Amino acid sequence: MDLKSLIRTIPDYPHEGIMFRDITTLFGDARGFRRTVDELVQPYAGYKIDAVAGIEARGFILGGAVAHQLSVSFIPIRKKGKLPWRTIGADYELEYGTDRVEIHEDAIAPRARILLVDDLIATGGTTAAGIELLRRTGAEVVGCSFVIELPDLNGATVLDKLGVPFHALVQFEGT
Ligand code: AMP
Repeated sequence: MDLKSLIRTIPDYPHEGIMFRDITTLFGDARGFRRTVDELVQPYAGYKIDAVAGIEARGFILGGAVAHQLSVSFIPIRKKGKLPWRTIGADYELEYGTDRVEIHEDAIAPRARILLVDDLIATGGTTAAGIELLRRTGAEVVGCSFVIELPDLNGATVLDKLGVPFHALVQFEGT
């Protein structure tokens, strides 16, 4: 099954020069969605994973399904100010300004082995912030799974430096 053909590309969204990779069309295809989740899970079948962490918002849809399939718990990594309990956070750079991701301070068991899931890796900034956050709680990030990688933006180098293996199901050239 060609998952790439189920992803819609919207030029110049949310600003000029960005090719937005829209996975709602992939989610909207029952067989495509199922295959996507199966392929995200496949490298980790037989691994010891304690929890899946997903990054808001598309990482929740994918990460929740992956956690269900691995029969482990799910940890939401949310944008600033959304979680109701005490949080810890990590700031990261955006094209314009900075943003912050947060988790509940009691979300993670000590030394938990965690799989991090998001829809897409571009520069790797969002994922790096997620990894930093999880590591600060004492967790071990055993890997990251993405549907899409934009290799020209070098997220792989960032994850390499952090020593976290990752896999992505499809790649698109450009930004
Ligand atoms: P980055 O931090 O640069 O790796 O960007 C990854 C985050 O931004 C992911 O959560 C994506 O959902 C989103 N993102 C970045 N570039 C795109 C793109 N071209 N299409 C869709 N989402 C994107």
